[in-house]
Amino acid sequence: MVQVLTGHGCFGKYLHRIGRERTTACHHCDDPVDTAEHTLEVCTAWAPQRARLQAAIGLDITLPAMIKAMVGSKPGWDAVKAFCEAVIATKEAAEREREEDPSADPIRRKRVGQRRRAFARRL
Ligand SMILES: [Zn+2]
Repeated sequence: MVQVLTGHGCFGKYLHRIGRERTTACHHCDDPVDTAEHTLEVCTAWAPQRARLQAAIGLDITLPAMIKAMVGSKPGWDAVKAFCEAVIATKEAAEREREEDPSADPIRRKRVGQRRRAFARRL
């Protein structure tokens, strides 16, 4: 939920900004810019999850409307949470696959390297 609300997470534009992606593009559709708003409101990859969210909180799923639904009721909170968890878990799994691909762009593998070095320091 924090990733969707802040935009700091598994989104092309953010990953590009922090040097982990060469472009801001979405890996799940053809859009040239992947942001939290794109993921929430536009990306075709998440249409089923978006439909479930809209069935629960209404057609307006902009960030302000989502926050209103979250604080408005427990079912609203649960619907937003379910959407964020399902979509972000899938996006993170896809990102991990891209990172772990041996032929991946080295900037994608940065985090894996940092994790390995941090693990090695603890040994
Ligand atoms: Zn997309």
